[in-house]
Amino acid sequence: MLMQSRFQDNFVAPNLSDPRLSSKRAYRMLIDGASRDAVSGQVIDRESPGHRGCVVGAWPQATAEDVGGAIGAARRAFDHGPWPQMSGAERSTILHRVAEGVLAHLEELALIECLETGKPLNQARGEIEYCADLWTYAAGQARGLEGDTHNAIGANRLGLVLREPAGVVGIITPWNFPFIIVSERVPWALGAGCTVVVKPSEFTSGTTIRLAEIALEAGVPSGVFNVVTGYGSEAGQVLAEDPRVDVLAFTGSVRVGTHLASIAAASVKRVGLELGGKGPQIVFADADLEAAADGIAYGVYHNAGQCCISGSRLIVANSVRGALLERLLDLSKRLPFGNPLGEGTRYGAMVSQPHLDKVASYVSAGVKEGAELLLGGDMVAATSGNYFAPTVFDKVRPDMRIAQEEIFGPVLATIGFDTPEEAVALANGTPFGLSASVWSRDLETAIQTTRRLRAGRCWINSVIDGTPEMPIGGYKKSGVGRELGRYGFDEYSQFKGLHMTLGRPQPWFQH
Ligand code: NAD
Repeated sequence: MLMQSRFQDNFVAPNLSDPRLSSKRAYRMLIDGASRDAVSGQVIDRESPGHRGCVVGAWPQATAEDVGGAIGAARRAFDHGPWPQMSGAERSTILHRVAEGVLAHLEELALIECLETGKPLNQARGEIEYCADLWTYAAGQARGLEGDTHNAIGANRLGLVLREPAGVVGIITPWNFPFIIVSERVPWALGAGCTVVVKPSEFTSGTTIRLAEIALEAGVPSGVFNVVTGYGSEAGQVLAEDPRVDVLAFTGSVRVGTHLASIAAASVKRVGLELGGKGPQIVFADADLEAAADGIAYGVYHNAGQCCISGSRLIVANSVRGALLERLLDLSKRLPFGNPLGEGTRYGAMVSQPHLDKVASYVSAGVKEGAELLLGGDMVAATSGNYFAPTVFDKVRPDMRIAQEEIFGPVLATIGFDTPEEAVALANGTPFGLSASVWSRDLETAIQTTRRLRAGRCWINSVIDGTPEMPIGGYKKSGVGRELGRYGFDEYSQFKGLHMTLGRPQPWFQH
């Protein structure tokens, strides 16, 4: 029934003469409320990954000197500026205005995000709208942040736990969801009263710079929200090294995250890490297979699979494996992918040619190790952009590289199971623990399974879902710390214990 097919009729070719590609946007960094070029004068050009040869943006290539200046500005704004001293209500009002500014620039931001990342324009619009909601939520919470009291520690003693802003926060973000990830960190850090220096990915810096400009216009004081652009080892690493930075919030690969955590240890700074994933999607025999097939397609193809919370491992009851794969293959062959500017496109381009090559090398590894390639496995129209076909493997063994490592592409690895215990062991059997889905009509099965999964974000009968209220973060090598919800504010707060003695203190030495 199931055969390998190099099916590409659903590829939507990009239009290289689309007028939206004609202008290259030149950006400057935002440091201490002013637009700045790099001291070296060097810039990084960004070509649209979906439109070969079309340069769509350029930003400064910062060195350690530029980043040091931004850290100095954030430090001054924290130690001497108004932001940490403001009431929660005042900060909240300004953060609400940022949310309004984001919505007012939705089309502009979505187009930049689409052209720099290669994701579909429609998807980018939804993401910007979601980001405005992240700012709105954090703005609302910012005036409700509170400490604690201890009133039962003795008749003449009273304990207060003071919540204070943690200080200067260095934030390093990746290229796959530039605007979402910066908006999952900055409003919480600012809401807590911190100041920030953000270093976005060298591939996708445009919307982060625009966000800082929008925040400045909304009333965030100079020096509170700084952006430096450039390469990781040159500009990013300084944020981990510099003792003037109190907290480092890193989102990206396990390799860079562990490297930065070891550097940050020298200045004993708090480190939050949001790293990679290898999300399992467990499908029980009683699941609604139609809904599950759609969810599995979304889970693995969304953002061309370049998603930390992708559902890239299908762990399916052997009794329904054939039926589910049949539905999934049918869907995969009809899914419009390609041109990021096409309104119907479900997924667009991969971020870069080297990343495309890496995804292709995983497909070769899967074939070599004996997995069965049912669909795709190849690059498409490589002359017009970085496109990769929907790819489905069956008969994957749990020890294969395609079952263990984060591929970060539209590549699904299917593993069958016979018992619920086996499903849980397979789902937990990688070094990652970022997200997981369970598909079943039986709520008890679904909940009991989810309780045994070692993953920070779980879904029942859905995938890649989130709201500002709910925490995100990883178990195991997927990271440390939690962002969003009320938990996110704790990452950017210090808690001070204040012990008060009421009346005359008990003498230590009687004489
Ligand atoms: P990456 O680790 O290569 O880069 C991330 C950021 O770190 C970039 O800004 C980069 O310039 C910077 N960087 C690189 N080397 C550095 C160094 N030596 N010092 C300081 N900064 C450095 O990751 P990527 O390829 O941009 O993103 C993909 C990865 O991000 C995937 O593993 C994905 O799972 C992960 N990710 C995780 C989450 C999450 O919330 N857990 C979200 C999105 C992406």
